[in-house]
Parts: sequence; structure tokens; C-alpha cells
Amino acid sequence: MTSQAPMRIFDAHCHLQDNRIYRIAPKLIRKATEVGVQRFTINGIFEGDWHLVKQMADEYPSIIPSFGLHPWYVGERSPNWFENLKGYIDSTPSAAIGEIGLDRGSYGRIVNFETQVDVFQKQLEFAKSVKRPVSIHCVNAFGRLLEILQRVGPFPEAVVLHSYVGSSEMVSALAKLGCYFSFSGHLTFHSHAKAKKTVNLVPIDKILLETDAPDGLPKFDNSMSSLLHAVRRNPHASQNDLENQSQSEDTNDATDEQSLPEEKLNHPANIRAILTYIADLRELPEEELAEICYKNAVRVFSYEGSKISPL
Ligand SMILES: [Zn+2]
Repeated sequence: MTSQAPMRIFDAHCHLQDNRIYRIAPKLIRKATEVGVQRFTINGIFEGDWHLVKQMADEYPSIIPSFGLHPWYVGERSPNWFENLKGYIDSTPSAAIGEIGLDRGSYGRIVNFETQVDVFQKQLEFAKSVKRPVSIHCVNAFGRLLEILQRVGPFPEAVVLHSYVGSSEMVSALAKLGCYFSFSGHLTFHSHAKAKKTVNLVPIDKILLETDAPDGLPKFDNSMSSLLHAVRRNPHASQNDLENQSQSEDTNDATDEQSLPEEKLNHPANIRAILTYIADLRELPEEELAEICYKNAVRVFSYEGSKISPL
């Protein structure tokens, strides 16, 4: 896999600052780079991880920072949360806004929905006012989302529907608003027929790829198993790899990496599997889809102040 065609891939939404993978993030970034990932947008989800997002973006030119209050953490926000968010955006010209959103699923249900709406709308209006793109999480609330987007929009910068698993019926109304649809491993848990219908309704210039790592590990059927082995490290390959790397690096990293429970956690190199899946659904060569999605992501993330310039 590593030696294959030099394609450019943009992981439009992940969480390398997440405490489950943060300590091994440098290694995960290297592995992703080896399979063609050139850019990562990493999304803060609560006030407690925004400093890590900023720190990683300062350290890695490939990382686009994004700050937001995710609906699951709305109940834990501080009285100053919005001022804090503004502070991070003001001091980080390269930052986007997200992950923000609405969630009526099993996790989101425990957070008062009207409070979620208030917090979401405040961040959405803020993103519009500062002309930054916004990354949106939406579970079982697409009707309300559409109503809010129609009311608050139009948006001078992009709206990204991250890990889109909404119905195919919603695609055209959301696409009309200019939304981008970002696909991750979550889609592989839906029926192939449903996924194919949804992905093919999205305008080609509005498709993005992401991992949502460390979540969103793709599920594979038998036809994908060879890819699975190629993309994910097996324990033996990993051991050799680590032994080689440990000659020049901190050996503690090796222990950390081995302790990553790969059966459950996702990492950005797995974006190759998402690419393969979406390319199959769209009946496009992988290289062509990767380049289209890369250009789409550059369009999204090349706002004023960004690390990325328009193509
Ligand atoms: Zn996310």
C-alpha cells in the first residue's frame, strides 16, 4: 500500500487530540502520510481539548485546527465557554469552527435538545460572522438542522456535514444550501444499497473524505478484507516496524503503539479504506476520487487566514 501511486488525500475531520490516541499521534500522522494523507483537519469537541488542538496545529503544518463545542459536551460547558471559543478563534487565524451539532441519538438524548439547539446556533452564527467553515455533527435531527441552516444561512464559507449518515432524501435540500458531505467509516455500517444511493446523490464537487479517528473504524465485508490487511497493521508487521523505528526514536512510543486497541480505535491511515469504499459506490477510480475530494477539501479550508491557499 505504501508504495502505491502518490495520491493526495485530505482527512477532512478527525480528532488526533483525543486522549485515546494523543500520545501516539506523531506516529499515526506518519503512517497516514505514508498512504498519501497530506492534510488533517482536527476538531476540538469541548473546552478541555482546545489547547491541544492549537498546540498540534502549531507543531504540524499539515494540521488545520478547528474549535467547537460538540453536542455531547453541551452540559459540561463553563459559563465562559463562548468567550473561550471566541478567544481561540481570534488568536488562531488558521482555525475553522467545529465540531458542533445536534444529536438525538443514544448519546445525544441525555443532553437537553433545546439547549443543544441554542449552543449550536450560537456557534453557527459565529462561524458565519467570522467567515470560517464549520463542521457539523448531526444524528437524528436533520429536519431541525435543515430549518436552522435555511434560517441562519447563507454561509460565506463552507458547511461540512461530517460523517454524513442522513437519509438520501435530505441530500438535495442540504446540497441546495451548498453543504459538503463528508463520508467516514460510519457509512460502512449502513446497507450497501442505502450508502450507494446517498453517495450518488451528492454533487461530486461536494464530497469529502474523513476518518473521524479515533472513532469511525470502517466495517469491511469479505471483498474488502485484503485492503483491511493492507491498511491496518497486524501485530507482527507492527512489531517489526516498531523495532526498526525504535532504533532512532523514543522506545516508549513502541509500547504506546502496541497498546492501541486497533480492533476498536480508528486512525487516519484507514482513510484509504473509506476512499476505496466511496470510489466503489461512485464507480470511479480511487486516484480520481482522491484528487476530486482533495480539491473539494482545499476549497473548504482555504478561507482567509488558513494555512491552505486556494488551488
Ligand atoms: Zn468528530
